[in-house]
Amino acid sequence: ARESYAAARPRSAALHARAREVMPGGNTRSVLFYAPFPTAMQRGAGARLWDADGRAYLDLLGEYSAGLFGHSEGRILAAVKAALDSGINLGAVGERESELAGLIAGRFPSVEQVRFTNSGTEANLMALAAARAFTGRPKTLVMRGGYHGGVLTFASERNPVNLPIPLAFTDYNDPEAATRDILAEGDGLAAVLVEPMLGSGGCIPASDAFLRALREATRRTGAVLVFDEVMTSRHGPAGLQGLTGVTPDMTTLGKYMAGGMSFGAFGGRREIMAVFDGHRPGTLPHAGTFNNNVWSMAAGCVAMGEIFTPAVAAAHYARGEALRAALNTACARSGRAMQFTGRGSMMTAHFRAGPITAPYAATAAEDGLRELFFFDMLAAGIYLARRGMTALSLAVTEADGARFLAAVEEFLAARGPLLA
Ligand code: PMP
Repeated sequence: ARESYAAARPRSAALHARAREVMPGGNTRSVLFYAPFPTAMQRGAGARLWDADGRAYLDLLGEYSAGLFGHSEGRILAAVKAALDSGINLGAVGERESELAGLIAGRFPSVEQVRFTNSGTEANLMALAAARAFTGRPKTLVMRGGYHGGVLTFASERNPVNLPIPLAFTDYNDPEAATRDILAEGDGLAAVLVEPMLGSGGCIPASDAFLRALREATRRTGAVLVFDEVMTSRHGPAGLQGLTGVTPDMTTLGKYMAGGMSFGAFGGRREIMAVFDGHRPGTLPHAGTFNNNVWSMAAGCVAMGEIFTPAVAAAHYARGEALRAALNTACARSGRAMQFTGRGSMMTAHFRAGPITAPYAATAAEDGLRELFFFDMLAAGIYLARRGMTALSLAVTEADGARFLAAVEEFLAARGPLLA
């Protein structure tokens, strides 16, 4: 599969060789790297992509969930162009930021007030800073296998990417262990940071019981419960906090919310967010040249106010659920060890049988199958993440979903003997 992949993409290969001269690994986003070289994309429209060698793809990756609106959605483009026509950044507060803040606060139960950043990573860093300032405590409890941004990735306690912030760890989806670990940290714990569905960790949803246990234990110790909904806020009208009914103290957001422009946001209870209130003494600073950049704010108002309305969000979630169910039916019928986990429009292919409720280290065999699946999908003209994740955009049609299902059925038939 690797050989035919490489042979069909001479231009991507040449671009990679050149890029390697000036960028380590030829790349500036680690997640986009895979051997022998990544496919370089040149153009996108709706749910279609074209690579540097002129090959066309159905885009099911959706820019790791930031591309919810499809490529070059007309209303997003118009909003950005209109904003830029009035001057690129103005070095001042503007009208759009409070409009977008209002749209977000109106959607997510935990968010009374909100501030903007340029990325989900920054949103998480600032939420943790807020929790520490609010509680006067040092530590944050995170999940083994959680991901909250390039510098907040918690594959294991020894992960060298961890920032030097004092951390405690617990296991995902283990309510008893989490309760015990939170209570053990007691009044040393400022925050608990959790994805209500592991995204990078393989689209593994949290159980309601687990989220409820986190809510209950943090209420007892006074730690700030932070839901990282950078990816999952697209699930239904009010994110996974809306669907699970568990309301955290703070929420972090990002990805699609500014129509695909760079974006992050964090918000929460008014009394916590007050640590940033410049009207008060001892304010926690949160600056950032591009925090209220006019293109993200303008695109975000259209994205959240006009396009991704609560009704559209609910319908998109339901469509994703239906597609994942159809894929899993096909996998089950084949009798092979393949399944798709996730919620709504986000799912990840796994090559093992049985329930998957926690992150796991893939075996070499599993990783080989993931790579094979990825290259087979590319050969079929379908683009997803190397790790097997999809984040369906609003531009993906029913026919596109059927095409993916057919490609998975073909994979199960052709490669089945390799699967357990
Ligand atoms: N949190 C989660 C759950 C994410 O999936 C990501 C990005 N994949 C981030 C935070 C970081 O966002 P960004 O890449 O915009 O910094």
